[in-house]
Amino acid sequence: MRIVLLGAPGSGKGTQSQRLVERLGIPQVSSGDLLRAAVARGTELGRRAKEAMDGGRLVDDSLVLQMIRERLGEGDTRRGFILDGFPRTLAQAEALERLLRDLTQPLDAVVQLEVDAAELVRRISGRRCCADCGRVFNLFTSPRTAIESELCPKTGAPHRLTQRPDDNEVTVAERLRVYEEKTRPLIDFYRARGLLRVIDATGNVEEVSRRLSQALGAPALRAARAAKSATRRAPHRTGARRKAAQPKSARRRAKSAAGRAARRGKARAGLRVNTRGKSPRTTRAGQGRPKGKPR
Ligand code: ADP
Repeated sequence: MRIVLLGAPGSGKGTQSQRLVERLGIPQVSSGDLLRAAVARGTELGRRAKEAMDGGRLVDDSLVLQMIRERLGEGDTRRGFILDGFPRTLAQAEALERLLRDLTQPLDAVVQLEVDAAELVRRISGRRCCADCGRVFNLFTSPRTAIESELCPKTGAPHRLTQRPDDNEVTVAERLRVYEEKTRPLIDFYRARGLLRVIDATGNVEEVSRRLSQALGAPALRAARAAKSATRRAPHRTGARRKAAQPKSARRRAKSAAGRAARRGKARAGLRVNTRGKSPRTTRAGQGRPKGKPR
């Protein structure tokens, strides 16, 4: 399946994308994660994107488009993908439409995650990330003392909580304004193409996942079954053959996905960890959650 998740910052696109990755066996393509990785690596793209990101503004369409074009050219997206954070402007949506037409891979669905503004601000302002292991927490669902009583798997010391540079109050307000101005018009764009489904993205992660699955409907169910049976068949391959069959970038992603899954497993007893490629976010199991994965 080829899916776009639309929604404001804090609406849970990353968390739900990660769940779909596991369920459908297709990769998440998060423009925010790709940009942050470029910033961390100090590439030319990262250097040019950083100022806009820190100010809560959008990175130039041309830079983002080039990055997405390259990513969608990688082999692992041939079976499908989940776009998270892209497109964010009408120009990006039109360029994506042309790109996918050239690739003869049209979108199957666009799901809009609806959350009211007060809840978005609450979710984003509570988000914290461990500076050492990258795991993401939320102070509104996991008290600081509980988080700090857990040891960081990297250092063996308590987690060192930091805030994503663009998660401060001023930048969050700008990101929400930019979303309303530049991204909300995509709802009509995709509605006109018969691709739009809207879900209520408030409530806990499980509830939202259920609504998302319902919105994606039968094709997603079939894809999930196919992904499951592919996983059952996979053990025939030796580790070395499987490794050789994957491009290097796919191996790197698989490795970090495995790490996130392990952290999730560890956390399941008390905290649910959601990773967004960058880092995980956590909520207490069963409670209303903050925006999922790490930013
Ligand atoms: P959020 O959805 O919480 O704003 P993201 O991780 O998706 O977070 O994006 C972080 C920042 O990266 C954005 O505020 C913006 O500066 C930049 N960015 C991400 N995706 C795009 C995009 N498609 N077009 C332009 N800028 C983008």
